[in-house]
Amino acid sequence: MSFEDARHTVEEHAARARAQGKELVDLLDCAGLVLAETVVADRNFPPFPRAARDGYAVRATELASLPARLAVVGEIKAGAPPEAIPALQSGEAAPIMTGAPVPNGADAVVMVEYTSRHGDTVEITKGVSPGENVVPAGAEARRGDRLLAPGVRLDHAGIAVAASAGRTHLLVHRKPQIAVLATGDEIVDIDVLPGPNQIRNSNTYSLATQIREAGGEPVLLPIAPDEPQRLRELIIDGLESDLLLLAGGVSAGKYDFVEQVLGELDGEFFFTGAQIQPGRPIVFGRVQYGTRGDKTSDQRPSPDQDFRYFFGLPGNPVSTMVTFELFVWPMIEGLSGMTPRKLAFLHARLKSEIKTRTGLKRFLPAVLSGEFEHAEVELVRWQGSGDIAAAARANCYVVIPPDRDRIAAGEWVTMLVR
Ligand code: AMP
Ligand code: MG
Repeated sequence: MSFEDARHTVEEHAARARAQGKELVDLLDCAGLVLAETVVADRNFPPFPRAARDGYAVRATELASLPARLAVVGEIKAGAPPEAIPALQSGEAAPIMTGAPVPNGADAVVMVEYTSRHGDTVEITKGVSPGENVVPAGAEARRGDRLLAPGVRLDHAGIAVAASAGRTHLLVHRKPQIAVLATGDEIVDIDVLPGPNQIRNSNTYSLATQIREAGGEPVLLPIAPDEPQRLRELIIDGLESDLLLLAGGVSAGKYDFVEQVLGELDGEFFFTGAQIQPGRPIVFGRVQYGTRGDKTSDQRPSPDQDFRYFFGLPGNPVSTMVTFELFVWPMIEGLSGMTPRKLAFLHARLKSEIKTRTGLKRFLPAVLSGEFEHAEVELVRWQGSGDIAAAARANCYVVIPPDRDRIAAGEWVTMLVR
C-alpha cells in the first residue's frame, strides 16, 4: 500500500475510535489532556470596553480639526471602580491606561504619543476614527459563547482561556492505555548483562516515550520470544489495553510470528506493508474483543467497542520510531478523544546532495539547522535503520518522494518535524 493510503486508513479508524472515560482535573494538571466538555464564557470578553493603549479617551468627532485642545478630566486606570469613571462630556478628554474601561461618552483612545499635556488641558495632534484603540465589551466572546469545544488538546492557550472563564478544574478524558510488546529471542532487558549476540531492548523505551508524547499511558509487557505460544499469551495480555503496539517479528523471516499469531486470533488486517523506508513491513489491524478465548461473553463491552486495534511495527529501532511517528499518533489521538490531526510537513533547503533509489517513500534521519528564515537540512550519516545513535543525532526526517533518486544541494526538500 502507498504511504498515503496507509496513513488514510489509520486516520479513518482513528476518527471513529472510542474516547476514554472522563475525570475532573485541576487546571494546572490539564496540559496535554483532551477536553471532555464545553468551556463557556461566564461573562463578556472583554467585560467592559477596554482601552488598548495608554492615552486619552476622546470623542473621535472632536478631533476633526488638528491640533485639538480638550479639557482634561479624571484619570482612568486599569481596575478603576465604576464610580471613579466620569462620563465624558463634550470638549473633554480623560487620561486612560491600557486595560482600563473606556468611559461613557468616549468612543476612541488617542495614543499618548500624539498628545501633550498643558495643565488641565491636552493638545492632540492626530485624529482617530470611532472605535480606534477600544475593544468593545463582548467583542472577543459574549457571555454564554463557547470558548473551547470538547476534543481539543489543552495547550497553554487553551488553559489560559479556561482560567479567564474562572475554571479551576476541567472535565478531561482519561489517557488511553497503550500496550508495548517487544519481540525477539535476541532481545534482553536493560538491567541484565547481554550475552555476546544479544541486544538490549531499546524499542520498549523509545515507544514508551513516544506514547507519552502522543498523550497515551504506556503499559509495558515482558519481552516476547520468537515462539508462537508465549507470543500469543503476551498478545492476549496486550489486547487488554486500548491499543497494542508490537515491535519486531513482522518481517518475512522464518521466526517472525507476529502476523501468524494475530491471524490465529482472528485478527483483521487493514494493511501488511507500506511503500516506505524505513518501516516497510508495518502491519495495522484489529481483533474482536470477545474472540480471544480468555473472555466470556458477559465481560464484553458494548458492541460498537468490541475490538482492539494493533500495530505490528518493524523491530529495527529507527523503523520502530519512524512508523510510530507516521501511523500511531492519529490512533492515540482518536483514543484520547481528539479528532486526529493531519500530518504536516515543513520545507527547508538541502545542504548536501542525496542519492538513493526510487520506489519507496523515504523518511531519513536528518539535522535541521540554520536560523530564522534560512533553514537548512542535511541527512545524518547512518548505518541503516538499526542505527539508534544516528537517530539520536537527528532532529527531523527528510522525506524523499518515491520517484526521486537524486536531490541536489540547494533544492527545497520536505521534512517531518515533531
Ligand atoms: P525484527 O523486526 O524482529 O526482524 O528485528 C529487526 C532488527 O531490529 C533486529 O536486528 C533486531 O535485533 C532489532 N530489534 C528488534 N527488536 C528490538 C528491540 N526491542 N530493541 C532493540 N533492537 C531490536
Ligand atoms: Mg525479531
